[in-house]
Amino acid sequence: MQHTIAQETVIKGIGLHSGCESVLTIKPAPENFGIVFKRIDIKETPEIKAIYSNVTDTQNCTCLSDGNGNIVSTIEHLMAALAMLEIDNVLIEINNPEVPIMDGSALPFYKALMQTGTVRQEAPRKILRIKKNVMFADAKGAKVELLPNESFKVFFEIEFPSKIVGQQKFCNNITPNIFEKEIAPCRTFCEKYQVDYLKSIGLIKGGSLDNAVVLDGENILNKSGFRIKNECVNHKVADAIGDMYSSGFQILGELRASKSGHYHNNQILRTLFDNSDNYEIIER
Ligand SMILES: [Zn+2]
Repeated sequence: MQHTIAQETVIKGIGLHSGCESVLTIKPAPENFGIVFKRIDIKETPEIKAIYSNVTDTQNCTCLSDGNGNIVSTIEHLMAALAMLEIDNVLIEINNPEVPIMDGSALPFYKALMQTGTVRQEAPRKILRIKKNVMFADAKGAKVELLPNESFKVFFEIEFPSKIVGQQKFCNNITPNIFEKEIAPCRTFCEKYQVDYLKSIGLIKGGSLDNAVVLDGENILNKSGFRIKNECVNHKVADAIGDMYSSGFQILGELRASKSGHYHNNQILRTLFDNSDNYEIIER
């Protein structure tokens, strides 16, 4: 059956780009409502559904737009937490264009929503079952595929020139236990030169070592180092779980991703939904 949250809950933090405080008020919502953001800082209070077809920018995060210039960005870590807690329906009021970055991982959202709890609703949950292999690749060698599988499984590989990251792989069924221990704590990561550049053009005003792993050549600038051994690839898995939830469904299938990011995650969903032979919607 579908689930919503047991009661209203508030999550606060700073936005990565603006550096301003962003407040999420997450409210229970009825059956078949989905995950919907509402910009309460705008007079018309536009609502934007967290669905792949509303994803308009994937450069540094996954960003939704309503087509009238109203956006909500950096939804992916919150979406991963909602997916893994099997929360189908919520209204998320937000007073800012950006979901707060928190510590750069999905864990603060996961913990807060777990504490809030969920309630069972009256309609059956619909599940997206992959029937045919679909693939999206770009000219730079990044590739993502969705394949039939009777559970939700992720294979992800990344390769970076610095040895401190190097080649990392993740391959496992995605269970709540694995998500909580191995995926949710993993923070977003970037190179120091990227940070310097983005700061120089007025972005990432809220960015710091409190909300990202920053690499400088063969060094990690965060004093306490990585949280877990393969933190970088496992963070990409968290992003992918969040992005796949913008399909509007839990997925029965395997995601295989190589060197890919938010753009590829969105493109594979668009490719999948282009042809109804690729999938079926079942009730479980
Ligand atoms: Zn991320």
